[in-house]
Amino acid sequence: MNNSNRIKVGVIGVGHLGNFHVQQLKTIPEADVVGIFDQDAGRLAEMADEHSVKAYSDYMDLLKDCQAVSIVTPTNTHFDVARSALDQNCHVFIEKPITQTVEQAKQLLEMAQARGKLIQVGHIEQFNPAFLALGDRKINPKFIECHRLAPFNARGTDVPVVLDLMIHDIGIILSLVPDRIRDIRASGVKVVSDSVDIANARIEFENGCIANITSSRISQKTMRKLRIFQENAYITVDFHTGTVETYDVSESEPAAAENSMVFTIEGKRKKHILYQKPFVEKGNALRMELAHFLNAIRESLRPAVDGHSATEALEVAIRIQNSIDG
Ligand code: NAD
Repeated sequence: MNNSNRIKVGVIGVGHLGNFHVQQLKTIPEADVVGIFDQDAGRLAEMADEHSVKAYSDYMDLLKDCQAVSIVTPTNTHFDVARSALDQNCHVFIEKPITQTVEQAKQLLEMAQARGKLIQVGHIEQFNPAFLALGDRKINPKFIECHRLAPFNARGTDVPVVLDLMIHDIGIILSLVPDRIRDIRASGVKVVSDSVDIANARIEFENGCIANITSSRISQKTMRKLRIFQENAYITVDFHTGTVETYDVSESEPAAAENSMVFTIEGKRKKHILYQKPFVEKGNALRMELAHFLNAIRESLRPAVDGHSATEALEVAIRIQNSIDG
């Protein structure tokens, strides 16, 4: 790609995840990675050296040289950093959750709107190849079950598990159920850290759909599963192993295609179940979401997970957290 067509992009915050942002941006032809900034000078120098990119000692200088920026700092800094970036007329990619409060998120949305800039937020599971493999399959859930369990890691414990992990599933659920929320019930426990480490939430939508989400960061095993139950179908997405399985029930016997099996249930009325394991393309979700962001800038498109949908997810997460706090 011609250099003048590439988007000048920077990364602010090059800790655990910021490292991967730089690594992936460098593989995207549309990205011209102009430099990075981190408040930890040692980490900044290490990452600049590792990725052969310029280290900026003042992030305002980086913002002046960029058209777009990835913000990969701790959640409590997202608002200030994103506000500075929008002020310098940069498009912003912000790691999830968008901000700590809904008021902050709405302020960023207003700033972006006034300056004609895009906000995309790192709800990465929406770019998980397993989730994308659902394609344009009709999803009309009546019941959703999500489990997101992770071993303990001090990183991320600056926010409760609802804002750290559950927000991924909230984003997914809101993308699947385009209806208003009628009620939220939740409970959670601080087991290891100073904030809630394990939580369960039950979201009831006005169309009757119920979503039950369990998130833990004190689990021995890792699990990231979504199960969708709807009339005549059961769909399961495993974000961790990258697999999808679908079960479709019908009265007439379906033809078994590749990667599928048909079971028959004898009952009052004979029913057939078509089991399928759709093909999941290989792909790096982080690279895909960053490429999507740059493409949205180039083509003036609304990104798949824009600031508005991330703000809605944050709003629900905060309702859940408030319900836990009582
Ligand atoms: P981290 O602690 O490893 O890295 C954060 C980095 O930001 C550190 O290097 C720190 O020195 C730097 N920093 C702190 N304040 C700064 C500031 N004001 N300006 C510049 N640099 C600053 O944390 P992490 O795990 O990389 O998480 C960063 C963000 O990414 C968080 O918002 C987190 O929620 C998000 N995250 C998202 C996912 C996902 O699945 N999408 C996964 C992990 C983390």
